Amino acid sequence: MSLVSLNAVVIGSGPNGLTAAIRLALAGHKVTVLEGSTTIGGGARSAGLTLPDFVHDICSTVYPMGISSPAFEQFPLARYGLEWVHSAAPLAHPLADGTAVVLERSLDSTANALGPDGETWRKLFEPFAQAWPSLRHDVLAPPIHFPKHPILMTKLARLGFMPARSFAGKWFRGTRARALFAGMATHSILPLEDRFSSAIAVVYAAVGHSLGWPIARGGAQKLADALAGYLISLGGTIRTGVRAQSLPKADIVMCDVTPRQFLALTADSLPVSYRKALQRYRYGPGVFKMDWALDGPIPWRAVECTRAATVHVGGSLEEIAEWEAHFAGRPFVILVQPSLFDPSRAPAGKHTAWAYCHVPNGSMGDYSDAIESQIERFAPGFRRRILARSVLSPSALEQHNPNLIGGDIVGGAMDISQFFLRPTRSLYRTPLRGVYLCSASTPPGGGVHGMCGYNAARLLE
Ligand SMILES: Cc1cc2nc3c(=O)[nH]c(=O)nc-3n(C[C@H](O)[C@H](O)[C@H](O)COP(=O)(O)OP(=O)(O)OC[C@H]3O[C@@H](n4cnc5c(N)ncnc54)[C@H](O)[C@@H]3O)c2cc1C
Repeated sequence: MSLVSLNAVVIGSGPNGLTAAIRLALAGHKVTVLEGSTTIGGGARSAGLTLPDFVHDICSTVYPMGISSPAFEQFPLARYGLEWVHSAAPLAHPLADGTAVVLERSLDSTANALGPDGETWRKLFEPFAQAWPSLRHDVLAPPIHFPKHPILMTKLARLGFMPARSFAGKWFRGTRARALFAGMATHSILPLEDRFSSAIAVVYAAVGHSLGWPIARGGAQKLADALAGYLISLGGTIRTGVRAQSLPKADIVMCDVTPRQFLALTADSLPVSYRKALQRYRYGPGVFKMDWALDGPIPWRAVECTRAATVHVGGSLEEIAEWEAHFAGRPFVILVQPSLFDPSRAPAGKHTAWAYCHVPNGSMGDYSDAIESQIERFAPGFRRRILARSVLSPSALEQHNPNLIGGDIVGGAMDISQFFLRPTRSLYRTPLRGVYLCSASTPPGGGVHGMCGYNAARLLE
């Protein structure tokens, strides 16, 4: 608890904004969150996008980083309605031969199904998986800190810095392990030939084998509502439908926005050098997302796909790499089927699913037929199960949430030059007194974990 209670305003109620707000309230400050949308949660919101009684998540659903978050772990979110639900396996990846390769919670089961690559898979990921409950503190901390696990962090950096394609070529002989690894590496939203595209795959494998990739029972909104409920219990206030047009007057202003919006909020009040640094910040590819209300479960040819909430639909490493580098060929589709494991999201016997593919930032293209055809390839009869669909292009996503610039879902490209010093070398600090950035455009970057907000608010303690 701070000795002086200050007035704090947080702009934006995404997971990072709400986490920063909680941390400030815990420090004894008087906190108000301003949210431009009529509902709270940013990338953790649910809505009825299709038919009555179907609950869809507008953005995120699966939370490997959420369950790993030291911030969420410290907050009593279960008391405010958050319940993690695990699918039997974190991830399935169907292949053209009608089988699927599965990332199981058990390293042994995963390795046993990978044939010649099983032993390598175990050797590569076991140290990270075993250490993950403690290693996550290092991975999600601000980039400049003394790590608790210097040796593992060095190893993670060495492996993570490799392009995913070279990583898979170096370590794996079979198509199954290569495809599984490539699918996870696409969460970097980088071409698989780019340095650093392996890091997220190594981390996601470690989390999958350690804590799992859960979803929130009832939908993503439950996570945001739990954060909000806790904040309010600490005396915080949230005002929805209030879009900040300029920086509010307060002792502390935390901005859960990306650099482009921050530039608009601050008009000419920033020093030229900092303004130029923000103007140089780059956004990455966008996503094109579809949600479906379904008449039944997705009829996967490989039945193992019904065991995982997340399914990577795109076939071999080569096919995936082609799409992620050039947006050519068939799209690599990340699909989530939450109602198989959380029946509260759809009427009895019916189901929800969403899928997206990466597309050029701001793309105006219509990828809906390409996405559905790709799913149909691995789940013949999928289209016949569709009762209703919602389509969110990059610009529609940005309309839902102005942080999704051109459909970029992680607040700016997460390549090697923007991963550590994000969005500038000042990280959370800005040249304006009391004004901080705390969105996914700061370390540790995209995903629902709240750690950008947590790390930013810690600077005030
Ligand atoms: C389609 C999609 C799928 C995703 N899937 C996953 C997933 O499964 N798992 C995962 O971990 N992550 C996923 N993500 C990424 C994740 O949602 C984001 O990385 C995360 O939400 C970032 O949190 P944030 O707090 O930084 O910003 P956001 O969650 O984007 O929140 C920012 C908030 O600020 C508000 N705001 C902006 N400007 C203003 C203003 N001027 N005044 C007031 N309010 C303002 C916005 O309305 C918004 O509510 C997904 C994202 C998308 C779009």
